[in-house]
Amino acid sequence: MDTNPHQILRWHVAMGADAAVGEEPLGLYRQGGKTKSAPAAAQATPTHSAAEPTAIPAPKPRLDGRELAQAAQNLEQWQKAVVAFDGLAIKSTAIQPVFYDGNPQAKVLLIGEAPGAEEDRSGKPFVGPAGQLLDKMLAAIQLDRTQVFISNILHWRPPNNRQPTPEEMALSLPFVHRLIELTQPKIIVCLGGVALKALFNAPEGIMKLRGTWRDLTTPGGFTAPTLLTYHPAFLLRTATAKKDAWADLQALQARLREMVDG
Ligand code: URA
Repeated sequence: MDTNPHQILRWHVAMGADAAVGEEPLGLYRQGGKTKSAPAAAQATPTHSAAEPTAIPAPKPRLDGRELAQAAQNLEQWQKAVVAFDGLAIKSTAIQPVFYDGNPQAKVLLIGEAPGAEEDRSGKPFVGPAGQLLDKMLAAIQLDRTQVFISNILHWRPPNNRQPTPEEMALSLPFVHRLIELTQPKIIVCLGGVALKALFNAPEGIMKLRGTWRDLTTPGGFTAPTLLTYHPAFLLRTATAKKDAWADLQALQARLREMVDG
């Protein structure tokens, strides 16, 4: 078998592989020509020589994420800061960053988890099946994307749609906080357990806390009431939770009406 990495990559693409599933190459073909086929290699115990490192360490950020995020004075600079930050390995497996969608002047900011495959391809958050449900949920309380702002905890797709790691969430959080400070929403909606963990580090999960409100205060001192609710992807899998999600949407609508009516 040809061990030229470009030939191997071309072979994978020809076999239908269209996305990376890990942040780091596993080096399965770097075993002194012992590897006969990809499946056999995948099952084999790696036999690295002493000179060969067994794992490639995660990149050490050259630039401090908090400093980069805080320096952004507007959304354009914020986007540049997200792209400049080199501490997240998922940046190298994603197609492009997924920043946000909707109206940055909106009263409501919705924060999800991380882009999936369709978001990665389009560069927009919540455009896949969960996004379509989110649009329907918003429509049920007479809102659309011109009246809300939408972003995620991570701005790059984790390979294979795996859950964000605690380290990734911590590294991305300064950018989330800065986005909140720059857009100053009146209300934040925290969609699902991952966003809950990242934003509040609460010991309880979303099943326990949904339907409740908490004040979110950023390191820069901006505070907004935050509604904790289910992620639309969870609702797609769990029809019985839709009743609670509807109650949460109505609570959101009532809060917005209170603001308009003074
Ligand atoms: N799920 C999320 O949390 N965010 C997206 O953008 C899409 C799906």
